[in-house]
Amino acid sequence: MEKQLYPWHQKNWQRLQKMRKSLPHALIFHGPEGTGIADFAEIWAKTLLCENRQGEEPACGECSSCRWFEQGSHPDYQRLTPDALEAESDSGAADGEAGEETAGKKTKQASMKIPINAIRQLHDFVNITTHRGGFRIILIYPVETMTTEASNALLKMLEEPPAQTFFLLVTNQLSALLPTILSRCGKLAFPLPDKAEALAWLEQQQVKDAEIWLAEQGGAPLAALEASETNLNAKEHALLLESLSAPRLAILLKTAEQLQRVPVRQSIIWIQRWLYDLVSQRQADTIRYHPRHQQVIKQLAPKADLQRLMAMVKQMADRRKTAEHPLVPRLVLEDMLMDYLKIFSG
Ligand SMILES: [Zn+2]
Repeated sequence: MEKQLYPWHQKNWQRLQKMRKSLPHALIFHGPEGTGIADFAEIWAKTLLCENRQGEEPACGECSSCRWFEQGSHPDYQRLTPDALEAESDSGAADGEAGEETAGKKTKQASMKIPINAIRQLHDFVNITTHRGGFRIILIYPVETMTTEASNALLKMLEEPPAQTFFLLVTNQLSALLPTILSRCGKLAFPLPDKAEALAWLEQQQVKDAEIWLAEQGGAPLAALEASETNLNAKEHALLLESLSAPRLAILLKTAEQLQRVPVRQSIIWIQRWLYDLVSQRQADTIRYHPRHQQVIKQLAPKADLQRLMAMVKQMADRRKTAEHPLVPRLVLEDMLMDYLKIFSG
């Protein structure tokens, strides 16, 4: 899916355009979750690298640089994000060809954290000649998920900035970053959009009761859109969560049948979030998506075969790419739920 520049980001877009000739080597984009800051950062990186730039317009989407970027294989661009987040990412670029090659390795490492190895690998990246425009871009998000070691390694790089390299750091928690990192970066704030703008956008996305959803998500429009879509099939969602909570063959088969009424892509997202919370519980003793199921997830997570769980997380990202119009949705659903069952069948 192509990332878009949201209307509430226009001001920052213009601000950056004005800074273009004097960009700091490291820039932090910070603001609340659910407002699309990482999307903005990716569009900005793609635009800087675009070889066919027109005034203040975003990247052309057609030059070879843009095409590489979209495939996730631009030689002058690196994106660091926790593996677990990568697996649930919406973007095709996230799991492009480059991702496939290292799939085996990734599966084992899928994690909520950005580890020090990821930062170490950057040393190779910044020490080779740039391929195209004479500079390279490193995008890291959410920056606060770096381990302490990773943060310190990044700090070292910022202290002696590699030549021709721009760091774009995205965070929803500015205060969680090391003060020493903060002091070496330029900062750009992404406040919540004003209500009228957010509502207008939600209505364009055909969200009913936009005002209620927006309020429930604290004014964050992307979070509101997501919540409204999830609720659309609340009954099926509840049923799925119930059967994921107590995985048994007969129940899972019945669930696959019931879920046929929901777009397959939606079921995949629900299952991905559940898996994400299982991994998160297992590795970081915390969950993100299912606060009401916290106890169940706590009990379930230690029983999971970690290797199978990670393999499934990876597979789900592939499934999401091909799931728009499956011939027999029920088979796809059964297949996923049987994989899930295996995670717990020792
Ligand atoms: Zn281009």
